[in-house]
Amino acid sequence: MQSALRNSYAKVLPELSRECFPSGFKKPEIILKNYELGEELGLSKKFLDSDECLNIFSGNTLLEDSMPIAQAYSGHQFGQFNPNLGDGRAILLGEIKNLDIQLKGIGQTPFSRRGDGKSALGPVLREYIISEFMNAAGIPTTRALLALKTNENVIRDTELPGGILARVANSHIRIGTFQYAAMQGNEVLKKLADYSIKRHYPELKNADERYLKFFAAVCQSQTKLVSNWMNIGFIHGVMNTDNVTISGETIDYGPCAFMDLYDQKTVFSSIDYAGRYCYGNQPAILVWNLSKLAEALIPLIDGEEQRSIEKLTEVLELVMPSYEKYFYSEMGKKLGIDSISQNNMYLVKDYLKILDSNSIDFTLSFRDLSKILKKTKSIEDSVFKNTSDFKKWTENWIIRNISEKANLKDITNQMDLINPCYIPRNHIIEDALENAVNGDMTLINEILQIYKNPFDENEDFEIFMKPSKTNAPYVTFCGT
Ligand code: AMP
Ligand code: MG
Repeated sequence: MQSALRNSYAKVLPELSRECFPSGFKKPEIILKNYELGEELGLSKKFLDSDECLNIFSGNTLLEDSMPIAQAYSGHQFGQFNPNLGDGRAILLGEIKNLDIQLKGIGQTPFSRRGDGKSALGPVLREYIISEFMNAAGIPTTRALLALKTNENVIRDTELPGGILARVANSHIRIGTFQYAAMQGNEVLKKLADYSIKRHYPELKNADERYLKFFAAVCQSQTKLVSNWMNIGFIHGVMNTDNVTISGETIDYGPCAFMDLYDQKTVFSSIDYAGRYCYGNQPAILVWNLSKLAEALIPLIDGEEQRSIEKLTEVLELVMPSYEKYFYSEMGKKLGIDSISQNNMYLVKDYLKILDSNSIDFTLSFRDLSKILKKTKSIEDSVFKNTSDFKKWTENWIIRNISEKANLKDITNQMDLINPCYIPRNHIIEDALENAVNGDMTLINEILQIYKNPFDENEDFEIFMKPSKTNAPYVTFCGT
């Protein structure tokens, strides 16, 4: 492993990190291993099964020449600027094949402030499950390589078993990293922008106005990402600027969850009192967060500040239209409509209205729609039950969508390839985590297998498709 590890971030941007040596744990234990991801990184099964691996990823052994760091960043948290955040419970070991290898829950760092730098095991496993699901669903995300039990308790409201997540990411550079760098002066800011371009948008390296183009590229990646979330019913829960990556990957799975019944106002996080990060607000927050990146980049764009602001604003103003275009086009595909235009967009809008006014399960609706169109399920047996608007909607769909060339079977097969039947449903995750924390890994291992193929419907896994019977309000908490 040693020769594979690089420390480009620590070396190029020493102003943006602090050296940090983990203190380790007495009896750590690896409880989940992602052999497939290990293989992509060049880490063999033999290595992942070895004591060497356990020692490295629990922070008990430090690789020779390794430069472990905690990264510095700022961030707007629920709209309030906090200049001094940083990795309070994570260290970056280095990079393998250009991917960051980070340990989360490893103990105190120079940025821990009053925190213990540790993680409870439940949130570690939650991030493992959901990030691996997102990857299987084709949504850019950080990945989970290993989950460890520390066999020590952390003190929260009660004592909880501790855990460590070995996380793999394209990088951990956040909007908040740019906000922090901007406070360090133009030289550091420029170095961070050049490093980010080289690592994430190398095609811009020699472009004219490369920093403006870099901003546009980040806008585009983030726009696609948030649209992906909206299309699958994912609610991130803490879209603070320190939780928004420059690479366009989903990061920091704290109080996130998937929406069951369609409702724009859905919010799960225990600390999101005002619903700032509710499902329907995510696109507006995307723009807000990108405006904070724009502010940080002002000094790099043009010698004249006003001109910089105008140029960045021009790019920022394209974000919402571009989001809408992407969202509707993807939503169209989910409904078997190949190409969305002004003429057929009403089909998407009317469909969402039906889900909304009848409180229909978002995920199941697309699978049932396909079955209804194939005539393998009746409307009455589906989630649409006896909604009168829905019958009318399907008639319109058929008139608009079925041409002589289009084959209903092809269309519905295509729909099934992009509409997941399995999502990490809240009640299932809760059961799996409770069992796992109590030492029984059966359910978590089963769902990890199922979530690898979220689009393949299998009769044996029917219970994993269904929403919770109780429909009880669900509350999620930050991983702290
Ligand atoms: P998050 O809500 O996970 O994005 O974390 C927000 C900030 O709080 C980050 O700077 C974290 O590093 C820090 N933080 C979260 N949990 C802890 C902890 N247990 N100890 C120290 N810092 C923490
Ligand atoms: Mg965070």
